Amino acid sequence: MSDAKLFRNYIGGEWVEAESGERMKVINPATEEVLAEVPKCGRSEVGAAVDSAREAFDSGPWSRLSPSERSSLIFRLASLAEEEIESLSTLESMNQGKTIKQSRDGDFPFSIDNLRFYAGASRSLEGLSAHEYLGTGTSFIRREPIGVIGQITPWNYPWMMAIWKAGPALATGNTIILKPASVTPLTTIRFAELCEKAGFPKGVVNVVTGPGELVGNELVSSSRVDMISLTGDTATGKKIMERGAATLKKLHLELGGKAPFVVFDDADIEAAAKGAAAAGYVNGGQDCTQAARFYVQDSAYDSFVKHLVAETGKVRIGNPLDRSTDMGPLVSESHRAKVEDYATLGREEGAKLETGGSRPRSVSKGYYFEPTVFSGVEQDMRIAREEIFGPVLPVLRFSDIDEVVEKSNDTVYGLHSSVWTGDVRKAMLLSRRLRFGAVQINDHLPITSEMPHGGFKQSGFGKDMSIYSIEDYTQIKHVYVDITGDKRKGWHYITYGDT
Ligand code: NAD
Repeated sequence: MSDAKLFRNYIGGEWVEAESGERMKVINPATEEVLAEVPKCGRSEVGAAVDSAREAFDSGPWSRLSPSERSSLIFRLASLAEEEIESLSTLESMNQGKTIKQSRDGDFPFSIDNLRFYAGASRSLEGLSAHEYLGTGTSFIRREPIGVIGQITPWNYPWMMAIWKAGPALATGNTIILKPASVTPLTTIRFAELCEKAGFPKGVVNVVTGPGELVGNELVSSSRVDMISLTGDTATGKKIMERGAATLKKLHLELGGKAPFVVFDDADIEAAAKGAAAAGYVNGGQDCTQAARFYVQDSAYDSFVKHLVAETGKVRIGNPLDRSTDMGPLVSESHRAKVEDYATLGREEGAKLETGGSRPRSVSKGYYFEPTVFSGVEQDMRIAREEIFGPVLPVLRFSDIDEVVEKSNDTVYGLHSSVWTGDVRKAMLLSRRLRFGAVQINDHLPITSEMPHGGFKQSGFGKDMSIYSIEDYTQIKHVYVDITGDKRKGWHYITYGDT
């Protein structure tokens, strides 16, 4: 019998365990100890969650509330989260391994702001004006919720990804079933607690924990779920697309990335190196927008590598709950093994290991890995092409604009990118030619509630944050009202009779 704390699921307004009584252990990656247990759910619990979300959408008052009433509830939720920010951010760090600086000063205040943005913006959606386009009737657009939405989140930003999904979906009147990643479910369960406290009606928000292949797949396959929104691996997105085809599921997919970070020789190289370390080691490199391949122009190459190695030396590894720690452990033992394999591969592929490449000796427990820099990396090496999702930074060379545009775009991914230069013409040219959902100039990472986040190519489709995410969780309907009052309309002769 474990004495780890049990976090139950929230289905139809009730706190429940799996019918089978099965549970999954949740590990603290810094201590390797069991932090909590959650229900290991499957088909019947997903069925119950879909029933309750369906009922709340189809017959409940939720989708018929005024935007102002829904908005008030979301503002209340944001304030409750703000009151609990210390305990929430600590729990997130203990479960995910991210530093308390990242969690307390980054993820949580930011996603509380996201919630407030969704609450406000959903009240001012725009569209075509009503008009007598045919002269005989008035046409107008109704923007409506989609229905029941299955929302599947990854382990790197558990709370923030739940907010990016739940916020716009709830603000527009949908009901949701959140399925967090199995290794990091805890703050999503706390999210449901706060929704209950804020006064969301029963069935509007549900949280079901369990393996992706089981719980996620049940949501994808259900004909009573109207839409699936996934943030996760590109391979998972493809599976969901295939399995969702049977019910022609509407999809919103935020998938993998391998962001290029392009440094021209006219850039401030010291600033670029600091930016590279910050954007490369963010969240231990477990970030879909992480700067993940560094293209540096020939004459600046040696200086950039030297500065990047120096910045890497300043990154302090340790207990994520300590405010002086810059990098905590990776999320799990299996993920560290994957990152470690890439560091080995980099050496085997012939890249030069400049620093790092191993488990740190300074810590005896936890899934830690050193911040690592490889130079001499070539475009066809796997460390330059595949998503490592860890603190391993490959540095490549380029000579001119055409070459770096071609190399940057030579990837299946298209989520995020940055360009470092003192020349506004180059900045503008690359902002047009790089095929990514975001291009940033002389910085890499900043995101804001008002601007969209989402991919091109195999990084997926659909946007998080901004008014575009709110639109993604709605559908539009054309309503036409006859104003002639004629029994036989002017166009009827086309079907039968004469004019
Ligand atoms: P993952 O794809 O393994 O898992 C994501 C979620 O999908 C989990 O909840 C998982 O249980 C579930 N899942 C797995 N298989 C499933 C299936 N067959 N059917 C339904 N659900 C299934 O991803 P991860 O390892 O948790 O997260 C890392 C990935 O997420 C990286 O590729 C990263 O780039 C990506 N990511 C993208 C963004 C973005 O905004 N584009 C943001 C964060 C993370």
